Amino acid sequence: MFNALVLNQDENKKTTATIEQLSTSDLPDEDVLVKVDYSSLNYKDGLAVTGKGKIIRNFPMVPGIDMVGTVEESADSRYSPGDKVVLTGWGVGENYWGGFSQYAKLKADWLVPLPEGMDPIRTMQIGTAGLTAMLCVMSLEEGGVTPESGPIVVSGAAGGVGSVAVSILSGLGYSVHAITGRPETEGYLKALGAAEILSRDEMSVPPRPLEKQKWAGAVDTVGDNILARILAEADYNGVVTACGLAAGFKLPSTVMPFILRNVRLQGVDSVMCPYAKRQIAWQRLMTQLPEGALGDIAQLIALAEVPEYAEKITNGQVQGRVVIDLNA
Ligand code: NDP
Repeated sequence: MFNALVLNQDENKKTTATIEQLSTSDLPDEDVLVKVDYSSLNYKDGLAVTGKGKIIRNFPMVPGIDMVGTVEESADSRYSPGDKVVLTGWGVGENYWGGFSQYAKLKADWLVPLPEGMDPIRTMQIGTAGLTAMLCVMSLEEGGVTPESGPIVVSGAAGGVGSVAVSILSGLGYSVHAITGRPETEGYLKALGAAEILSRDEMSVPPRPLEKQKWAGAVDTVGDNILARILAEADYNGVVTACGLAAGFKLPSTVMPFILRNVRLQGVDSVMCPYAKRQIAWQRLMTQLPEGALGDIAQLIALAEVPEYAEKITNGQVQGRVVIDLNA
């Protein structure tokens, strides 16, 4: 028997989260049985566990969109017992039972072998949030942005995606301007490499169609007016990557930045990101995320603490990344 966090819905459609004792025969029938060592808490997990977002459609569900662990049994020739694997996305923890469990049964196609030398805790300190941050950086590069192009602005900077993005970009030599609604995180963000701190309130003021040009590129994790302002302030040929909606899913913008300044708005999705691109992103995360950064970015919690932290992350009260130790 092992522990898993199980979500159910009561008669009032309210989501409940309880730790249950399961056996491997309770798990959905998939190719690979993995003993999960660590998972992580992402904004989407927060929405799922609290029921604040319509993430889960079929109950009961084990949430957890990330996990790292060890293969115990495999019906697929690509994996053997003892192999270390990492999983992020593919709808796991949303449509399929996920990583907030000491064991999981998974499709081999969803797994990525843990890069040689990569520590499991570090892998989950990165998790979906870190992978997404790296995919944003790769999109900036694909759009021709280099450290010489000018400053990069990162929104939701003290959150998971934002923190990792600040760290990677500053490590690569970019001048990073960090937008935060929490002035108390200034020291943290500067330690991650932010050159300047911008106030969320000021950046949330609805922009004119075009504002003074300030940004060669952007990593936006929040959407709504902040994304609209970033677009209006983007340089000629600027590249704005959009991956999140912590402020809202609306985009109250105009076509002006696109048709007069050649601005590119690039969406970034980590969930269905193809395998080959994932592998490149994970390899780059191993080498290009400054070694010391993650210790400051991440905290370790037990499975029983997940509901409390799920509430916090949906209220914008989590700094950096939260790793879940399934054996604590
Ligand atoms: P976090 O909660 O860790 O970070 C979000 C940050 O956004 C907060 O820390 C806060 O930063 C800021 N924020 C919160 N509320 C507001 C608000 N009302 N207005 C403006 N800013 C706000 O979440 P993650 O980093 O895990 O995820 C960030 C976003 O990216 C989420 O929307 C998530 O769904 C999305 N995402 C998308 C992925 C994809 O594949 N496209 C993958 C992973 C995440 P601060 O205090 O510094 O202002």
